Amino acid sequence: MAIVKDAWQRSSALGLYLHVPFCSSICNYCNFNRGLFESGLKDRYVAALEREIRSAGQGEPVDTVYFGGGTPSLLEPAEIGRLIQACRDAFGVTRDAEVTLETNPETSNVQRMDGFRAAGVNRVSFGVQSFRDDELKRLGRLHSADRAGAAFAEARAAGFDNISLDLMMWLPEQSTGNWSESVNRLIEVGPDHVSLYLLELYPNAPLKEEMARAGWSQAPDEDAAEMYMAGLAALDAAGYEQYEISNVCRTGRESLHNVKYWTDGSWLGLGCGAHSTRDGVRWKNVAPTGEYVARVMAGQPVAVDVRTMTTDERLEDALFTGLRLAGGVDVESAARRYGVDVWGRFGDELQPFIDAGVLLREGPQLRLTREGMLVANEVMRVFV
Ligand code: SF4
Repeated sequence: MAIVKDAWQRSSALGLYLHVPFCSSICNYCNFNRGLFESGLKDRYVAALEREIRSAGQGEPVDTVYFGGGTPSLLEPAEIGRLIQACRDAFGVTRDAEVTLETNPETSNVQRMDGFRAAGVNRVSFGVQSFRDDELKRLGRLHSADRAGAAFAEARAAGFDNISLDLMMWLPEQSTGNWSESVNRLIEVGPDHVSLYLLELYPNAPLKEEMARAGWSQAPDEDAAEMYMAGLAALDAAGYEQYEISNVCRTGRESLHNVKYWTDGSWLGLGCGAHSTRDGVRWKNVAPTGEYVARVMAGQPVAVDVRTMTTDERLEDALFTGLRLAGGVDVESAARRYGVDVWGRFGDELQPFIDAGVLLREGPQLRLTREGMLVANEVMRVFV
């Protein structure tokens, strides 16, 4: 397995996450902070988000801006442009900053893609989820497999040279063969970055009821593991490099924004329900969209649950998230940063995983093997 180790450096600049909580319809498995699109509320929300951005920055360096949701591509290109401009006015956004827009295929067309690009977006992340129409229907998604392929072509035609596609595995009624079909179609499409997620069914997800009603089931656990390994093997063979448990890319196309989450970085989450972590302080914004808008417009604070992490928590968090990277975590630099002897504290509990061959200690790096990634949660539990 190729390991991306040096393609990025730990960045001291901030990342900005901008939450857009609107969707055209609500998928039956989704528990993100989102609601149905409503034009009036959207207008007020964009104004509030712009105001929050302008009041949050004091010229600090920023090298990533990430529009997540919800479905941020439901905003007009001019609105995305307005929000990017607010980021540029309030922060020191670097000229080559990565600016990502999460996009749903059904919201895309050539004109909109041109518009988003002109507005300053330089990376698009499409929520494709599957290249099989039967699977997309079961998930309640609005697009078809062909629309996903067309949306990708539209983004390329608009000049985007950094496009990510998401796929979900372990879907209801999905066999390992169906999964491979989606992965192969994705490889034919040829994105620069791919995220592979396992469907997680939260308690009370409407999809659970639909599955019971329709008699749909998920493949056994062993098949889910096989899907993960087979998907990654196909992507390896197609020249992608795995750099994180769920993410692969072409050389140099890692998600620089998401890398901040795994390298002990700092980011500000702006918008309703967005989470922030900056220099060991964590907080989140109020989640209900209407309440967020009302608070911003009344000049009231939107941050709730502000918490200063202890040194131990910061270290544990750095190790826990860093282990998600294929290159692993530099234990010695984390130890220096937090003044703790990591091996002295965690060595005994880590050793059985090293003995089992799922965890490797290579100089200062501690990293999971690909088999180890299947049991990542067990290993990470050592740190929390
Ligand atoms: S489009 Fe995304 S955010 Fe919106 S409901 Fe579906 S999964 Fe959730």
